[in-house]
Amino acid sequence: MNIGQVRFDLLQQVVDGGMEMVRRGLTVGTWGNISVRDSETGLIYIKPSGMPYETITPEDIVVMNRNKEIVWGKRKPSIEYGLHISIMNIRQDINAVIHTHPIYSSAFAVTLQEIPGISEDFVQIVGDKVICAEYSLPGTPELAANVAKAIGERNAVLIPNHGTVCIGSDVEGALKICHVVEKTAQIYILAKSIGTPHVISDEDIAAMQYFARNEYGQDK
Ligand code: 13P
Ligand code: ZN
Repeated sequence: MNIGQVRFDLLQQVVDGGMEMVRRGLTVGTWGNISVRDSETGLIYIKPSGMPYETITPEDIVVMNRNKEIVWGKRKPSIEYGLHISIMNIRQDINAVIHTHPIYSSAFAVTLQEIPGISEDFVQIVGDKVICAEYSLPGTPELAANVAKAIGERNAVLIPNHGTVCIGSDVEGALKICHVVEKTAQIYILAKSIGTPHVISDEDIAAMQYFARNEYGQDK
């Protein structure tokens, strides 16, 4: 692949999305990672491994194909490239994957607990709940397979003793999922300290999801 075939806007989205993860307090240091898929070519643009977000420029991004092969770039890709591409391969409806190391969601991930459906925004756009994938070491094919299996049709999943993975149709959408998951985890933990959180019924979750998909917002 030559430079003329690389989409500069997607390189920039990976750079900007990484900075936004840090700005929102969703990860620290060089941890976490982000990828975007070109919906036309199917190529995946992913963050380089182990570089501080504020030093990453478009030239540092790596482009890979659905077979997990590098097609452009001079850097080593994120060690979690397998996780990103495995999810992209099973979820044709999304084009952005973000892996974060946030505080409150990680409290659930280290206790191997799921985040229940307790808030309207969460059940509308993330899913009925967020479950934990099976435990596996970072950057391994096992982790990629376990996360892809556990995410199913939801838009987020927890990685035991590690963090979260959130997905969306674009970077902005995936960042919104990360934000709502983390906010809900924080609310649940706070709520437990003053009482018993009320979990929304399956029926009401279905009603809210229908509303969000078909009616919420302007002119649907
Ligand atoms: P990378 O810097 O290789 O993306 O790894 C960070 C990480 O969070 C691994 O799980
Ligand atoms: Zn990680």
